[in-house]
Amino acid sequence: MVIQMSNVSKWYGDFQVLTNCTAHVHKGDVVVVCGPSGSGKSTLIKTVNGLEPFQKGKIMVNGISVGDSKTNLPKLRSRVGMVFQHFELFPHLTIIDNLTVAQIKVLGRKESEAKQKAMAYLDRVGLTVQAAKYPAELSGGQQQRVAIARALAMDPVAMLFDEPTSALDPEMIQEVLDVMVELAREGMTMMCVTHEMGFASQVANRIIFMDEGHIVENCSKDEFFEGAKSDRAQMFLSKIL
Ligand code: ADP
Ligand code: MG
Repeated sequence: MVIQMSNVSKWYGDFQVLTNCTAHVHKGDVVVVCGPSGSGKSTLIKTVNGLEPFQKGKIMVNGISVGDSKTNLPKLRSRVGMVFQHFELFPHLTIIDNLTVAQIKVLGRKESEAKQKAMAYLDRVGLTVQAAKYPAELSGGQQQRVAIARALAMDPVAMLFDEPTSALDPEMIQEVLDVMVELAREGMTMMCVTHEMGFASQVANRIIFMDEGHIVENCSKDEFFEGAKSDRAQMFLSKIL
């Protein structure tokens, strides 16, 4: 089990944003998290690598307890790749330096090794030609592919995605989804917040549907798309399919 989330509850002040969320992600699983805006998807995914604290329950990532005050969160985070809606590349660094900086500073890799790894991952996302450029010189789709390559260069045990295509122009969505599909097919463990149901039906093996901070559905892809499900999930699907 790579990610084990048990009865997680979280409050922002008086507002309960997550209620008893339980979800397991096994090695090689591709779990798609969907649900209406404001249902807690981003918050859920951020609790997994300790970007958001939670008050109740337990989260284990690769056997390490995220909520334990003794856990070295920066170290844990370095092994869980995270790709956000906005690309969040370092604007003042070239693409190649974006890919090497954490490898060198966090993992202690030699520059030559980090560069080699960076170029291999840039090649995988089809961007070796752009290595010397700065993020602002790339399209949104290219920047998001760099963000994915940067996360992969850290040898993550799992990849978390939070609506990685929702800020992109329509013509750039597919190139990012293609990279994600390939990753999924290669067996990467992934937890993806996305409304791209084409992606979900292609590669997800589980779907988590959230509503008002609750995990309302946690089922196989086939069950989700074909089987009986909650009224809320049906309403959600009818709006986006
Ligand atoms: P989703 O990703 O599904 O759209 P979020 O996890 O971003 O949902 O947000 C869930 C709820 O928590 C929303 O009602 C949002 O307004 C609230 N929320 C998110 N972040 C904060 C915060 N930092 N402080 C207070 N409320 C927040
Ligand atoms: Mg969100």
